[in-house]
Amino acid sequence: MKAMTIINDLMSLIYPRHCEACAENLFRHEHFICNYCKLSLPKSNYHQKREHELSLIFAGRVPFKNYLSFYVFEKSGKVQRMLHAIKYQNQKELAEFLGELYAEDLVKENILSDIDIIMPIPLHPKKLKARGFNQSEWFAKGIAKLILKPVNGFSLERKKETATQTNKKKYQRWENVDGIFNLKQPELFANKHVLLVDDVITTGATIEATWQALKDVEGIKVSVISIAFASRKI
Ligand SMILES: [Zn+2]
Repeated sequence: MKAMTIINDLMSLIYPRHCEACAENLFRHEHFICNYCKLSLPKSNYHQKREHELSLIFAGRVPFKNYLSFYVFEKSGKVQRMLHAIKYQNQKELAEFLGELYAEDLVKENILSDIDIIMPIPLHPKKLKARGFNQSEWFAKGIAKLILKPVNGFSLERKKETATQTNKKKYQRWENVDGIFNLKQPELFANKHVLLVDDVITTGATIEATWQALKDVEGIKVSVISIAFASRKI
């Protein structure tokens, strides 16, 4: 053990590990993000509110049980830096770590206790091939470690890419969501509470599209969770 610690210390002198949020060097006991960032990153705390900006974008359209997001996205902020590291610097383990960190908060407050299946939203096969991994699946794996429920990454199939929503006018936001996803083996989900997992929620169109694929399953309940919510104020 002692030899390993010395080797780790030497390694961090040669290749210092950096906080993925603020880029400062990490101490030996810190992983992925420094303690300062851990405490100061902008948590949404949506699980403590009945109504909030994320639940409001789905109001009257998607009847989910919980609308959860770990952080509130700030342009050029630390959350954006972490998301960039996950997506473009192959830091999939950071997504897993954030899943564990968030689930730790939620489990303490007894949220997620009745979830049966964790379901990451799939990427389009072409995108998955290009990136090599699905960041939502890694975030889901982290959550699963804490709540000990299975991750189902195979029953939901993505047939089309969702169009970029940012350039669309407001009234077009909720169009073209039908037929993007297809649920195979719907019988597996009857009377289950499914936790849909996304990386970033912006307009909510992708979530709306998954609901179209799930809504006819008998007795299904759905909640959604993401790493960050980018409010439209940005
Ligand atoms: Zn930091």
